[in-house]
Amino acid sequence: MSRNALSAPHLTAADQPNLWLPYTQMQTAPFPVEAVSTSGSRITLADGRELVDGVAAWWTACHGYSHPHIHEALVRQAERMPHVMFGGMVHEPAIRLAARLAAMLPGDLERVFFTDSGSVAMEVAIKMAVQYHINRGTSGRTKILSFRGGYHGDTLGMMSICDPEEGMHSLFAGVLPEQALADLPVDGDSLARLEALLAERGDSIAAMVTEPLVQGAGGMLFHDPEVLRHLRELCDRHGILLILDEIFTGFGRTGTMFACEQAGIVPDIVALSKALTGGTMALAATVARRGVFEAFLSDSAGHALMHGPTFMANPLACAVANASLDLFETEPRLEQVATISAQLARELEPCRTLPGVKDVRVLGAIGVVELETLDDPDALRRAFVERGVWIRPFRNIVYLTPAFTIMPEELTRLTTAIVDVLREGA
Ligand SMILES: *Cc1c(COP(=O)(O)O)cnc(C)c1O
Repeated sequence: MSRNALSAPHLTAADQPNLWLPYTQMQTAPFPVEAVSTSGSRITLADGRELVDGVAAWWTACHGYSHPHIHEALVRQAERMPHVMFGGMVHEPAIRLAARLAAMLPGDLERVFFTDSGSVAMEVAIKMAVQYHINRGTSGRTKILSFRGGYHGDTLGMMSICDPEEGMHSLFAGVLPEQALADLPVDGDSLARLEALLAERGDSIAAMVTEPLVQGAGGMLFHDPEVLRHLRELCDRHGILLILDEIFTGFGRTGTMFACEQAGIVPDIVALSKALTGGTMALAATVARRGVFEAFLSDSAGHALMHGPTFMANPLACAVANASLDLFETEPRLEQVATISAQLARELEPCRTLPGVKDVRVLGAIGVVELETLDDPDALRRAFVERGVWIRPFRNIVYLTPAFTIMPEELTRLTTAIVDVLREGA
């Protein structure tokens, strides 16, 4: 069987005999390309072609692929202790990483619970919030309030707080718990509606959840820092915990280390993952403020947090995450993000006048071209591969979230491909 998707246009994803791909209609999707090695912002395919990566492995590889400092940390830790259980036992890579995250995050966000994926970090955040109220003797706060356009992961619990369309609420009706859903308070009307909802049912809500500044998988939708200040204020007024999902925005993507810094607010719980290890290992963290943690202290075992993934705080992953944080200290990442931001804005601007383009927007190292409609994302993806770039349009958007270390000429190849493909109509 050909390993080259482009020379075998008749093959579909289903012709790959054993794999089941994510978010893919296997019968109609093109045969996947096969990657064999990575370096910097380049992915080499099995047929020898090299692609410039515009996605950074689903927004994780912020230092580019195969950074020597990360590689070294991985090998060193692999030689000493690749894994050990985390029940009743701790280790230096996790202790150091937790201390560094606590020091970087604003306010008294200082208790770090490690997991192995973003979805699970958010599940833990929800469990913390619900049990926080129970432990404090408050009953009836069982619902989570989330916002249209939000995405928090693919597990059943997270599906119930994703945008109803993204979470496939109608398909899974009867399986998902019913939560509370609102529009983000981006103007007077939506703020008034949210205030009314809280006046009516605020005392049934344990936590409010949002991705700060950018709803990523929901369509790269941006909102002002002001919105987060409204949420903080409303949560305080109604005794609700504020959970920020910084899984996508954390570690520099929006121009500051964490997006919540731009609003000057401190959430009660924050979830981190994607770029935590610089895209090298699966790792996530749920970080709680002191007051949240203290609600779990008791001489009753029942007050403990009941969660513990087998591979939590995997030493390899923690060592790599420490190496990634080193790079934020030793290399000028936030300056690079600012430079990328300016280049994205400049070079994507020509898209604005192309037919079918609805909006062009840039925040930090996120560049988005929103189309009126996108009927055939597979055709567009194929056109990008033919131009030697890896760009994955979804819904009605074409976006770039490159590594912060991408070279200006590599970024230009990405933006040029977008302008050309959209101009030619794929
Ligand atoms: C990717 C993502 C998740 C889910 O993380 P997984 O590691 O895929 O489970 C949750 N929230 C946001 C904002 C994300 O971008």
